[in-house]
Amino acid sequence: PVRVRFAPSPTGPLHAGGVRTALYNYLFARQQGGQMLLRIEDTDQNRYVPGAEEYILEALEWLGITIDEGPQQGGPHTPYRQSERKEMYREYAERLVAEGKAYYAFDTAEELDAMRKRLEAAKVAAAQYNAITRMEMTNSLTLSAEETKSRLDSGEAYVIRMKIMPKEDIRFNDLIRGWVVVHSSQIDDKVLLKSDGMPTYHLANIVDDHLMGITHVIRGEEWLPSAPLHVLLYRFLGWESTMPQFAHLPLLLKPDGNGKLSKRDADLGGFPIFPLEWTDPNTGDKAKGFREEGYFADATANFLALLGWNAGTEQELFNMEELIAAFSFERVHKAGARFDIQKANWFNQQYLKNLDDTTLIEQAKPLFAAQNIHVTHEQVAQIVFLLKDRVHFVKEIVSESRFLFNTPETYDQELVLKKWDEQAVTAISGFKDALTTFEAEFTAHNIKENLAATMESLGIKMGKIMQALRLALTGEGHGPDLMVTMEILGKDEVVKRLDNALT
Ligand code: GLU
Repeated sequence: PVRVRFAPSPTGPLHAGGVRTALYNYLFARQQGGQMLLRIEDTDQNRYVPGAEEYILEALEWLGITIDEGPQQGGPHTPYRQSERKEMYREYAERLVAEGKAYYAFDTAEELDAMRKRLEAAKVAAAQYNAITRMEMTNSLTLSAEETKSRLDSGEAYVIRMKIMPKEDIRFNDLIRGWVVVHSSQIDDKVLLKSDGMPTYHLANIVDDHLMGITHVIRGEEWLPSAPLHVLLYRFLGWESTMPQFAHLPLLLKPDGNGKLSKRDADLGGFPIFPLEWTDPNTGDKAKGFREEGYFADATANFLALLGWNAGTEQELFNMEELIAAFSFERVHKAGARFDIQKANWFNQQYLKNLDDTTLIEQAKPLFAAQNIHVTHEQVAQIVFLLKDRVHFVKEIVSESRFLFNTPETYDQELVLKKWDEQAVTAISGFKDALTTFEAEFTAHNIKENLAATMESLGIKMGKIMQALRLALTGEGHGPDLMVTMEILGKDEVVKRLDNALT
């Protein structure tokens, strides 16, 4: 059975790229009738941020990504937090040492620093700790077994490093990128076990993926450079035959396509790149979230799913079931996906249009109340009807309806010059007079009939005065349906506004 995992490090809020990774894992697992695990990779205690795990869980739940096994859900491989599995990893690192595939290294921070400087001065492209440099370091390859043992016994600080063999090609078949071949000279003798006894990401990740029976590793492209090392680790540990398949997802790019999307882009553009609002526990700084900004969860998931994948058809709107059915690695792009918030807004608009009025009314009501705007249920219903096709967010139903509650005090001057001519004044005072004897129910339909009849008797074309009428009623040049607007305003308010405009 397919088993996938989402393995975030709790170092802060999940950004859009992380959520998309979770989503693709989920889609694939559900499509294949497999399981989705959540594993918290918290071995780097310096980067641990309180609240991040809760945030991750809440964000996944909000988006409808359900987890089969994890720290909250439990499961056969409990615990699912790496910090709680700490003792398990050492055994594997020590086994590799015993088999000559890894070694103890006692280099101090100063020694490592000096090596890096020396290599930099020698203009070695990238300073590495590898088969060549390791020779000059104070590690077990240049130390006798006795000295290694005595240093260990005396409690000297050490790490365990993987021993990469030179002159070897490492290859694997990525489900998205095809064959990837890397020469072992490109790879460092990576640390597997740190001096604090904690495993590094590499060791913990491979050990857990193996023990937890993971069949597919689906993660961001930033991990592609680590994949050859992981392949070697599977080989060293004798687990090559059950090695998972890799799928490295394309990067998310800045809205203009120049470079990777970063937290700063959100600051600059004022748009969310996080699913939920995030308050930095150290600084108190707040970053916007899709949820709080008024994006629907299903619209957000739909938007994220299409960042780097398409169905190969014209279809863009997919609910979760449809995404599960349609998803495939073949249609995940290799090139980076541009993060375009306008597109997210478009998705939200489509989902809003598809909501029934009752739901919209219920969602809009508390937003009116929060702005201290007193409206009846009936009024909200009318406003929803008026604005539904013009807004991207429920909150815009409130902001876009402000003109209904405020009699205009200023008028668009450019439009006044263009449209407020003699004919307009005649038409509008004629209409106002007609309203004083208006007996029928004040509905959009009846208003329109009355207006048409009045204009006909004045010999003025309807089309000629509509903008002037809007200007008189709202002070502005454009807006929603004018007849419905008048129905909502009510006869008295319409007459009052026309009066104001005429004087
Ligand atoms: N802990 C890693 C992260 O934060 C997981 C990478 C992986 O999926 O292997 O992204």
